[in-house]
Amino acid sequence: MPDAARFAGRVAIVTGAARGIGAGVARRLAEEGAALLLADREPIVQDVAASLGATALIVDVAAPDAGERIAALALERHGRIDVLVNNAGIGGSKPLSESDDALLARLIDVNLGSVLRVTRAVVPHLPRPGGAVVNVASVYGLVGHPGTIGYAVAKAGVAQFTRTLAAELGPAGIRVNAVAPGLIETPMTAGLLEGDWYRRTMLAPTPLRRAGQPEEVAAAIAFLASSDASFVTGHVMAVDGGWLVARHPPREEN
Ligand code: NAD
Repeated sequence: MPDAARFAGRVAIVTGAARGIGAGVARRLAEEGAALLLADREPIVQDVAASLGATALIVDVAAPDAGERIAALALERHGRIDVLVNNAGIGGSKPLSESDDALLARLIDVNLGSVLRVTRAVVPHLPRPGGAVVNVASVYGLVGHPGTIGYAVAKAGVAQFTRTLAAELGPAGIRVNAVAPGLIETPMTAGLLEGDWYRRTMLAPTPLRRAGQPEEVAAAIAFLASSDASFVTGHVMAVDGGWLVARHPPREEN
């Protein structure tokens, strides 16, 4: 359950907050008292921000100066930055033989390069101790899954970035963690769920036998960003209904 005071007086940045998991994170952190800077390339982020009393920034997180723009606006409007949630990401990967240079470069730059650059720009402004970064990785970055090459390599990089940066920033009292969602019902997966492959390889082998909701990922991100996780850093937390540890097809009895 949301704790109305957990982020009182705190300022959080959420990228990719126009819809899906990012919008869920924004709602959750707002419910828990955070002031928010919501960044997305889609103008509709302004509506999400308006509904939460937050600040919106329309920006492509892969732009070279995105991190500086995000940090500057958060500081101008809210005076401080306590939490960074790197959530913006894109799907659309293909098997390696069908992945041209442009596709690989885009998947890796949006899903990984932007996370490194935005974090680099924001970290100097986080309180020491007390700052928190939460990245959004994926189960596809933790195990092999065919057809996901560009995306999977980028998300594996996000997981390793999380561990390495946690080691670098731990002495300063800044925690760095990640979530690795499994199958979550969002606009990104809506089309995929209509197909047989995704239902067979993701939905059917998920032990909890359903897709997750953005709110369920948001709850995990809020925990990792909060002082409830004060001794947790460098952790990549699966939020996947058990898919990662127990991928198995349905047995006859269940
Ligand atoms: P989504 O497509 O519904 O939402 C992603 C948001 O990010 C959109 O608002 C989009 O406009 C924004 N965005 C994308 N590229 C951007 C860019 N270059 N600059 C600024 N904004 C950008 O996706 P989602 O399912 O909510 O995914 C959110 C995150 O969770 C992504 O990093 C995704 O890889 C990850 N994830 C999702 C699932 C899932 O099953 N939905 C599973 C594992 C990981």
